[in-house]
Amino acid sequence: MKFGGSCLKDADAFEKIVQITKIYKNAKKIYVASAFKGITDMLLNTAKSVNDNKDINRNITLIEKKHLDIIEEIFQQDTDHYDRCKEWVDARLSELEDGLSDIEEFGLEPYYRDYVSSFGERLSTYILNQYLQSKGFESVFISANNLIITDDKFNNAYPHYDLTNARVKRQIIPLIENPKKDTIFCITGFIGRNKIGYITTLGRGGSDYTATIIARSIYDIGSDKDIRVILWKDVDGLLAINPKYVPESILIRNLDYEEAKQIANFGAKVLHPKCLEAIEKRNIPLEIRNFDNPLEKENYTTISEITNKQQIKGISTIEDATIITITSGSMVDVPGVLAKIFQIMGKNNISVSFVAQSSSEISTSFVVKGNDGEKAIEALKKENFFSEFYEITWEKVSIINITGLKILDNTTKAEIFSALAKKDVKVKAISQSKDEFNLSLVVDRDHLLDGIMIIHEDLCADFEMFECVD
Ligand code: ASP
Ligand code: MG
Repeated sequence: MKFGGSCLKDADAFEKIVQITKIYKNAKKIYVASAFKGITDMLLNTAKSVNDNKDINRNITLIEKKHLDIIEEIFQQDTDHYDRCKEWVDARLSELEDGLSDIEEFGLEPYYRDYVSSFGERLSTYILNQYLQSKGFESVFISANNLIITDDKFNNAYPHYDLTNARVKRQIIPLIENPKKDTIFCITGFIGRNKIGYITTLGRGGSDYTATIIARSIYDIGSDKDIRVILWKDVDGLLAINPKYVPESILIRNLDYEEAKQIANFGAKVLHPKCLEAIEKRNIPLEIRNFDNPLEKENYTTISEITNKQQIKGISTIEDATIITITSGSMVDVPGVLAKIFQIMGKNNISVSFVAQSSSEISTSFVVKGNDGEKAIEALKKENFFSEFYEITWEKVSIINITGLKILDNTTKAEIFSALAKKDVKVKAISQSKDEFNLSLVVDRDHLLDGIMIIHEDLCADFEMFECVD
């Protein structure tokens, strides 16, 4: 189970973790915790402002206070657990201060960013572990930089599963497979280490990923294959449409890994997009559940191999985007034009969200998000390659994504387009890769809301939980 920052915010929240522990009393449990809310941001900002002593002192005091406040709230004073937590916070914060002086001396190398941002999880998870012990549970703390071995990509590390498995085998399996023991593991989310021992992080929101990496390891080397991952969140699960467009929020109860990856990529930041990679091939189910409602029987999201292929799962959007079109009378059979476009985008670190070219090869359109629009146009204009024979045009647009296996049917597409025609929403470009359960439609920004509403209205019977009104 992974507990995010909002599950660790006050005494009530900690009490709820005890409730959850009791609800799942018959299962062996591994808990992964995130930093307290806002702490990772604060740590990163502190690392960036090392030259401003006033800022540093203020931030460290704030970070310290946030942790001490919780400690005061959840422990009785002068108990061993209370003392240990205070000592732990003290010791970690003085390490942090040393790290910040190093940054001042050597600059904010990628390694230091990860090192500094690792303190959030190392503080919160230790406190959680002490808390569970204070409530009479048997529980051990593991800092994941001793457990998850990763490559050297600071800030976005990828696990070496073999090396990680070997450690899980030594540190977790003997206890968790001992039928006489009922030990909970409290493991820091978000962090790992590379082979030579430097702390790495798995990317923002990476604690979800920590949970799935560990689940996969246990699956691979343990003898019990009945494993599930539960991510406790402050929402019921994944929603089919952002409630800002369609007020009644509609939960997706079942979807498969592929569908979930599509939705996680576009949708609200409920799920770390990489975390499914770890469990997909093992078919380990993942539940997204509301922390405020741990006994909920129906309304939560399960990502597993089980899905209803006759359903649209969700509609998501990219609101702020630019479509750029490169046209020439003679792009036909001129190899290398696409290579050139994407090379320029790559060189400028611009991610392309959408590509369309018909087989007439006269023009190619692609979409980039947000401020990358201007950057991309500038970059193209600067290249000699595109200066003479090519016309470059662009326009601010939005994208509507419709996700679900049902999108592979012709009839679904026919319904979508006739719905859009009713509201006169013009589709400027479309794209769907072979076998991809996601159709992307580029529309005018002014038509975005109309487009979503009418698709939702006309195709409501194709969604799992929509109530259709005539
Ligand atoms: N604390 C990290 C972050 O804020 C990881 C996480 O919350 O999952 O990105
Ligand atoms: Mg988080």
